[in-house]
Amino acid sequence: MTTSHMTLAGRVFMEQPELIAAAEGTSVFTDLTTRLEPVQIGGGFYYVAEGDLLLDGDELRLYALRREAANNDAVPDPAPSAPLEASAALTGISVAGRPARWEDPTSLHYCVLKDSFPSDDMYHTVRGNMAAATRDWQATCGVHFRHRPEWDKADPAASPPGLDPTLLFGVRFVDAQGKFYAAAFFPTSPPPRRRVLIDPSYFDPALRFDRVGILRHELGHVLGFRHEHIRNGAPPDCPNEEEGNVIDLTQYDPRSVMHYFCGGGGTSDLQITDLDRAGARKLYGPPITG
Ligand SMILES: [Zn+2]
Repeated sequence: MTTSHMTLAGRVFMEQPELIAAAEGTSVFTDLTTRLEPVQIGGGFYYVAEGDLLLDGDELRLYALRREAANNDAVPDPAPSAPLEASAALTGISVAGRPARWEDPTSLHYCVLKDSFPSDDMYHTVRGNMAAATRDWQATCGVHFRHRPEWDKADPAASPPGLDPTLLFGVRFVDAQGKFYAAAFFPTSPPPRRRVLIDPSYFDPALRFDRVGILRHELGHVLGFRHEHIRNGAPPDCPNEEEGNVIDLTQYDPRSVMHYFCGGGGTSDLQITDLDRAGARKLYGPPITG
């Protein structure tokens, strides 16, 4: 594995292996490994944080070290410039003080891995909903997604960027047993982690969320936006998650597409709000015309 395929957390622990034991010795690590739901995806083992974010072992260790450092000045931050995740309501991830975004946001190519889905109906539903959700983001800010159906028949276990370097990510079905409806990745995620995952619960007829809305939310992560409710100004009964390496692009927006149900905020249709639009344009500029 080359370093370009490693997460930032992976690189931190490769360069400073002594930090592994330090991280695992923190009470935060013990608490998180007890509290967070583990899930196995494509041979990898992840913890589900904030509802739909997947952390591998190294990312969980770095998360624990950062939380511990925030709680205790005696523990130094191991990598102040390395973000745990990409962030941007809109709340952005920052890398060395700059928001994480795609270098070329006009060619975000993806495929929908057909053979991963138990039925053709599910594949067609997700394919159609991805088309709608990507159109909504394209009408919001200067990004352009393109579905590449010629790769939809690829092996679902493959990493699409490994099949074709012009492919950014794949959308695939995975049975995470309801631990999330869908999950995504950030601009800081290495190529093997660039996938939008769809759980069987996404197709549950009793689902309370709009299915296109869920994909708008996940594509918000893909573009570099973190959960709106993790930021300062969010109601205190919203989940208290890691706030490091985050950039506030707008004022707090309880109706953001990136907000969960908590503190009276969050919506079931997960629409892109005016504040989301303003924040997204700060990162990507106005929609591309023509
Ligand atoms: Zn999310």
